[in-house]
Amino acid sequence: MIAAKEMKQKKLSLVVPVYFEEECILQFIKETEAVLNTLQMEFEIVFVDDGSTDKTVELIKHAAESRPFIKLIELSYNHGKQAAVTAGITYATGDYLIAMDPDLQDPPEEIPRFIEEIEKGYDLVFGIRKEKVDGLLNKLFSKMFWSLLARFSGLKIPKGISSMRIFNRKFANKFLEYPEQNRFVEGLFMHIGMKRSEIVIAQRDRFAGVSKFNFKRKMSLAFNVIFDFSEIPLKMAVKLGFFLFFFGLLFLAGILIAKLFFINFQLGWPSLIGAIVIGAGLQLFFIGIAAIYIGRIYKETKRRPLFSVKEFTNVSEDK
Ligand code: UDP
Ligand code: MG
Repeated sequence: MIAAKEMKQKKLSLVVPVYFEEECILQFIKETEAVLNTLQMEFEIVFVDDGSTDKTVELIKHAAESRPFIKLIELSYNHGKQAAVTAGITYATGDYLIAMDPDLQDPPEEIPRFIEEIEKGYDLVFGIRKEKVDGLLNKLFSKMFWSLLARFSGLKIPKGISSMRIFNRKFANKFLEYPEQNRFVEGLFMHIGMKRSEIVIAQRDRFAGVSKFNFKRKMSLAFNVIFDFSEIPLKMAVKLGFFLFFFGLLFLAGILIAKLFFINFQLGWPSLIGAIVIGAGLQLFFIGIAAIYIGRIYKETKRRPLFSVKEFTNVSEDK
């Protein structure tokens, strides 16, 4: 009796960003509820609606009426998955938090394995998928995305990382201390470090609906990551500038030598205009790069809240 009392039951929070998922959400709730009920743990599912205008919210609210463990945070408009996950972590109250997608690509039946692994004393356990179930083009693009990322950001993000992962309260609190506006969650997770492990998990097809990460969104994410996690574009500018400077010097010296000792030719206005245009182009290019960073600094210095909430369901709002 005493032992049972001392062993306070741990609580598990699922953090689930949802965006136009009316076709998946009920199946997701059904499957996760079945798994969660088998655990010797208190639990909650924290849904964050990222501005869907289909039936997603209505369905979740309806399910929440009879299930107090379902919480819903509705963001006022589409903030993007990264902010949605941040909102979910902010309001989740568990000792362990599992982030996962509701399209059932992250299989709920893997939840017990995540718990088992983190209980070995880790702060963070990533789910790694053997092989992504996806179209060929999407797969190729994913591959490009992650290798680009590794090269530019220097972040050693595990290969085949899935969106499903578990972390403890200590890790979640650390995550919430990161104030930056341009948030790439994977990058922040790697940056936090702590004691980390991985498990290989099964991966399913999307239950229904379509992926919201089309080519344009993926490009924009890649772009964000490069400028948020690396100064390589800046260094590139310096290197290129240095190279061009010496190349220009050599070129001038070459022309001078040719003119003085070998050929007698007329140096005219075309080369002058050429030089001016090339110079102006170069300057514009590097000013552009500097402007990107300035833009980001501006964004950070405003210190806006990371997300704005429209409505809460089953969530206490004192955060
Ligand atoms: N998502 C979101 N906001 C967005 C886009 C997506 O919260 O602006 C959520 C979406 O509901 C899903 C998850 O992010 O739960 C992953 O998106 P999706 O399944 O479309 O991408 P994929 O798995 O194909 O990379
Ligand atoms: Mg998906």
